[in-house]
This record gives sequence, structure tokens and C-alpha cells, in this order.
Amino acid sequence: MTPTVTGAGVDLVEVSKIFKSGVKAVDSVSMAIEPGEFVTFLGPSGSGKTTTLNVIAGFSRPTSGQVRLGGVDVVGMPTHRRNLGMVFQSYALFPHMTVRANVAFGLERRGVGRREIARRADEALEMVRLAGYGDRRPEQLSGGQQQRVALARALVYRPPVLLMDEPLGALDRKLREQLQVEIARLHRELGTTFLFVTHDQEEALALSDRIALFDSGRVVQLGRPIDLYERPVSLFAAEFVGESNVFRGTLDPSGDLVAITGGAVRVPAVTPSAHREVAVVVRPERLTLSAADTGGGSAGASNAVTALVTDISYFGAFRRVGLRYADGGTGTVREDVERESDVSVGQAVTASWPVEHGIVVPVETKEAA
Ligand code: ADP
Ligand code: MG
Repeated sequence: MTPTVTGAGVDLVEVSKIFKSGVKAVDSVSMAIEPGEFVTFLGPSGSGKTTTLNVIAGFSRPTSGQVRLGGVDVVGMPTHRRNLGMVFQSYALFPHMTVRANVAFGLERRGVGRREIARRADEALEMVRLAGYGDRRPEQLSGGQQQRVALARALVYRPPVLLMDEPLGALDRKLREQLQVEIARLHRELGTTFLFVTHDQEEALALSDRIALFDSGRVVQLGRPIDLYERPVSLFAAEFVGESNVFRGTLDPSGDLVAITGGAVRVPAVTPSAHREVAVVVRPERLTLSAADTGGGSAGASNAVTALVTDISYFGAFRRVGLRYADGGTGTVREDVERESDVSVGQAVTASWPVEHGIVVPVETKEAA
């Protein structure tokens, strides 16, 4: 089935929100979200994700900036006229009503006819795979099922934009993963624009067309999951998304060599700029370990640094080896279990990687200060 795109675009133009307390929760955020896109707001607690979503929803009025839904300026428009679906971490279902009545609640208020209400409520329950549960009460459902009801209640109007704020935050890991699959399927089938908030980077990588990475009220990077993983713009971005091996050092004026503790590593040439203090980031699957302690340094197309193995854990298809480097920093290597392990805990090893897999990022000034 080809999905018909029914989503609406969402535009934020230099949106800021300063609370009366003086907290600048959102600091000049701009983004253009395409109709039907799945965009995730990712970032640590307190970085401004919920406030930005609340500004889009109309729960919070921006101090400055513009918000457009489907091209229409909505600042000042009340929430109920914005035609948005919303799902929060707490399901907030009415306990005394049946599941069907919960889903139908908003339709009744909108004056839809009774038979049409029942049909659309059941259709929405079918969408979230809860057909046949309409006569139950919320307390007779599991947490995951209750959150499906909340999804059905949001989708029953077929809103062009669905806002979700940490919708899976209250669920245990297994249920969370199941619902992630359901949410991805709903997005494909409905063509609705999904705006999803999470502080869980794996969830963001798994679900999103694009991720907006928040830090201190600002969007520090906006891109596809692969862009954030392979081309993080800062040490913060590199460390927040995915695991990293981080080597801090000083960029040589040549732009392709970084002096680190106990040696130097070659990097893909970068334009030397104001950022002399940099970090070289290497992802865990790019490193290869060898038992021989051949010393640090760089040779040819590959870098090698010494490290101490601190722990080894098995994860079915791969093995994760924890390392401590010469500068005291820690890191991890992800090894295919098919490959025979030749290192053990407590051993001095050499970790090497092809030069092209070293990602050079500036070290943020707030850390340097
Ligand atoms: P996140 O969803 O990323 O965890 P929030 O958007 O909830 O972050 O919060 C961003 C910042 O704004 C935080 O410092 C938070 O304490 C502050 N904040 C949120 N809501 C209010 C409010 N109603 N009044 C004052 N400060 C608030
Ligand atoms: Mg929040």
C-alpha cells in the first residue's frame, strides 16, 4: 500500500521562550519540518525539548519567533484549533470510561454522529492493534496497551501532525521496543508528520528521519541519524549520540595531525581554524584490538594507541571491550563475536583504526573555559 502523505509541514523561525523566572528555555530555534517527516527532539533533561513542543502545541506562547503549521501562522491560535494529535508519557485515560469511549471522547465533543464515532473509534483501535478491546476499561490493560489507547485517541481525528513527548518513557525496555516498531509502522502507513521527544539516543536513531539535538535551549545539530553519528558537529553531539572513543589534543597547523597524550594521530584533513583544541572521536566498531603492545603513534593509513582492557561483555552478536587510554579517558570497542578474541581483562593492548574513521570535533569553549 502506498501511503498518501497527509501530514503538514511545521516551521519554527527563531523561536525563543524566556520564562518569568528568567530561564531561557528555548533559544532562537529554527527548523523546517517537511510534511510527513518523522523528526525527533533529542537532548538531555532540561535542554528545552518539551518547551519547544509546547510552543508548537500552543500550551506555551513563545517570547519571540514564528510557528507555522501547514504554512499557517499559529502563534496566538488556541491549542484546540491547531488540529494536532498529542501523546504524553502519562496516558491520562479516563478510568471510568471504556477504551472505546476514551478514544471517541474528542469526536463527541466535535459533534460527529454516533455511528460515525463508533466506526472511527474502532478503526483507530485497529490501527494500534487493539481491535476487540473497545469494551474494556483502562485498568484491565497493560501499560503498553494503555499507551496504544492514548495513541488511538490522538490518531482518531487523523491529525496532520502528531506530537509525542516521551511517550514510551514509563514503559520497560521490551514494551518500549515493541511500541517503537508500532510507531514506526503507523508513521509509514498514515503519512502524518510525527514530532517525537526523547532523551534516549537509541530510540531517536531507530525512529527518526531527522533528529534535532538540543543543548541548553538550542538546536546544536539537525540531521539524519547517520549524519549525527558519522558527522557530529561537536564533542557534545558525538558523546550524546552513540558511543565514542575520545582523544583530546591539539590540531597541528597542517590540519591532518593531532597531538594527543603520549603521541600523535593522523586525521582526515580539516581546515585549521580558531579551534586548535580538538577531540578525535572514533566509534567503537571502527577500532581493532591486538594483543601486542606495539606502542602508540601512527603509521601509514592507520593509527594505533595503547590501552588497558578494563572489562569485556557479551551481547550475543557482538562483544564490547572496555578500555582505558593513556590520558585516563575510557572507551569501548565493539567486536564481532565471529572473530576470535585475543585480549583479556587487565591486558595492555593496541587499538588501531583507519585514519578516515577519526572524526575531528572542536572542544566546546564552555569546557575549555
Ligand atoms: P526538557 O523537556 O528538554 O527536559 P524543558 O523544556 O522541560 O526541558 O525545560 C527547559 C528549561 O526550562 C529547564 O531549565 C526547565 O527547568 C525550564 N522550565 C520548563 N518549564 C518551565 C516553567 N513553566 N517555568 C519556568 N521554567 C521552566
Ligand atoms: Mg521534557
